[in-house]
Amino acid sequence: MVGVSTGLARYGIEAPTVVRAPVTDPQDRTICPECGHPVGGTRGTQRIARPTVLDEDLTDADELLTHGYHCKGHPSWVVLPSHPDSVPDGWLSVEIELSDGRAREIPVAEPEVSASA
Ligand SMILES: [Zn+2]
Repeated sequence: MVGVSTGLARYGIEAPTVVRAPVTDPQDRTICPECGHPVGGTRGTQRIARPTVLDEDLTDADELLTHGYHCKGHPSWVVLPSHPDSVPDGWLSVEIELSDGRAREIPVAEPEVSASA
């Protein structure tokens, strides 16, 4: 039931962050694939709680810091990571499973990766 806000955070149990690939609309604006809301102004460091990491070195990670966008139009946290090629140096590429079941490389803050190695 990814994407459903359970309200469990108040009991200290955090729902996994919804992670989707950003898409662009016909006007070339970056939008949320879930609701179509423009997210261009939110570009920066984003936190992903309880990611499904496919990279063997990082499968135990409780959270990751990625670079990209987030959409405010949902009760749950929706993060849209940039492509690793489009972010500055200092970010590593880590493969995770998105909330739609597809695998994708996302940028992850370098200290994060070396700390868990
Ligand atoms: Zn949205």
